[in-house]
Amino acid sequence: MTAITALEHSVEIKAVSKTFGSFHAVNNVSLPIRTGEFVTLLGPSGCGKTTLLNMVAGFIDPSAGAIHIGGVDVTDVPVHLRDTGMVFQSYALFPHMNVFDNVAFGLRQRKFSKSEVTHKVMQTIEMMKLSGMEGRRISQLSGGQQQRVALARAIAIQPKVLLLDEPLSALDKSLRAQMQVELIEMHRNTGLTTIFVTHDQGEALSLSDRIVVMNRGQIQQVAEPIDLYRNPANGFVASFIGEINALPAAIYQASDREISLAIGNIRMTAPRRAEWQFGQGEMVQAFVRPEHIRIATSADAGCNVVTGEVLTHIYQGSHTITRLRVDGLGPIEMRLPGGDVVGRVPVGMPTQIAFDLSQVILLADKSS
Ligand code: ATP
Repeated sequence: MTAITALEHSVEIKAVSKTFGSFHAVNNVSLPIRTGEFVTLLGPSGCGKTTLLNMVAGFIDPSAGAIHIGGVDVTDVPVHLRDTGMVFQSYALFPHMNVFDNVAFGLRQRKFSKSEVTHKVMQTIEMMKLSGMEGRRISQLSGGQQQRVALARAIAIQPKVLLLDEPLSALDKSLRAQMQVELIEMHRNTGLTTIFVTHDQGEALSLSDRIVVMNRGQIQQVAEPIDLYRNPANGFVASFIGEINALPAAIYQASDREISLAIGNIRMTAPRRAEWQFGQGEMVQAFVRPEHIRIATSADAGCNVVTGEVLTHIYQGSHTITRLRVDGLGPIEMRLPGGDVVGRVPVGMPTQIAFDLSQVILLADKSS
């Protein structure tokens, strides 16, 4: 990996905190964001992501720390002088203006010439697939079209950083999926440094160069989507990103090649990973994704196989989520492609399932 110099950072959040009375909404967050990166702040409701975004925008003053944009300390610079473009959950468009004037707003404020305004507005309108709607009033647009106008207004000024606060949350599922693709294309076309706030992990995984997982005002992990999914840093991240079975486990033995552990009261073996420094007898949590459990076959020869009883099948078209009860482990979810399992293994039937423990995530059990 090449070293990152300060100049390559479009935004630097430096040890920023925000307290409301005695409550720490954001607690000592540091985050450098590279020029052109699409970074997502992801976390449950109330974790502080909007507060952090609003501090970058300048709507909220930090209680401590500093914000740099384009290498300049903007902590005390007012919102309109920060060179940011913002899209809100509610769009916050100007209802009395038409589409053209909404998109032109920031350019006119910045005193661009009339011909430059027209050129940049038309270019942005075309990119956001709004051509032909320039004269329409905001009230004559669908939710998805309003969302595109809000994005167009924010990107027309080519800000140093684009700030998006849950911009897709008001859209229905199919429109949301379509706008996700358009956001990816917009980012590729403009190359704008983008900070995106969402509580939707699927959205974060599909859009981001890097994801910042937050909880209770603090960063839990910063990583690329695939890395976050495969190597969560702690139990919170493991459980928050994607579906996962969290199982109590204890280490039996650890050799250079493999680690033998009791998951519940069932002995299993996983290939050893360098980062696992657990000793014999240590209590851990074993996190196993539903796609890493399958119906056992003769090829499994009893290795990492347990008997479970099917509780429910949830057929989802492309795959089926099957919940099983395993003695000593409680309910477990597995995910199998298609729907064959529904007929093959009826509810109530005992069945052998096999764990693919080459993919298991072992983390120290903080409760022990
Ligand atoms: P959501 O997804 O629900 O918008 P969030 O992660 O964006 O959540 P924030 O809006 O940043 O969360 O709020 C973080 C915490 O700070 C919450 O507990 C919230 O109640 C609190 N908070 C935010 N603004 C204020 C305020 N002006 N005064 C007091 N508490 C506030």
